[in-house]
Amino acid sequence: MTDSTPYTTLMATLEIDCPVCAEVLELTEEDRAELRPGDVIVCDSCHAEMEVTRNGGGEDFELELLGILTVCPACGEEFDVTEDLLAAAPTLEGPGDVSVSVVTCPHCRARIELEFEDDDPGGAPASPS
Ligand SMILES: [Zn+2]
Ligand SMILES: [Zn+2]
Repeated sequence: MTDSTPYTTLMATLEIDCPVCAEVLELTEEDRAELRPGDVIVCDSCHAEMEVTRNGGGEDFELELLGILTVCPACGEEFDVTEDLLAAAPTLEGPGDVSVSVVTCPHCRARIELEFEDDDPGGAPASPS
């Protein structure tokens, strides 16, 4: 069996809540050393794009939400779902705590349903997966 090395955090890791899906994005000091204002971070969970606007070390870090990169299932083209687009999109109630926004592909005009899980940030009990 492999000897598992104990994980020690020597570097400060910055945790950012994704403004779209509330997934916690962890940025190590190494990650941050490579980031400059104007660089774009993409959320692993919902593919939201965020532009780095400040990266001065420590807590001095700011992001601005750009949009969610989405691939149209009908034509295969990528497009950004922005906050403006979502604000204009009709929202459907999905099963459970899922809300569905219907956006239109700018390329082929297909209607695409985007699901957002309405997670209660913080309060949810940890469930082993
Ligand atoms: Zn996200
Ligand atoms: Zn399309």
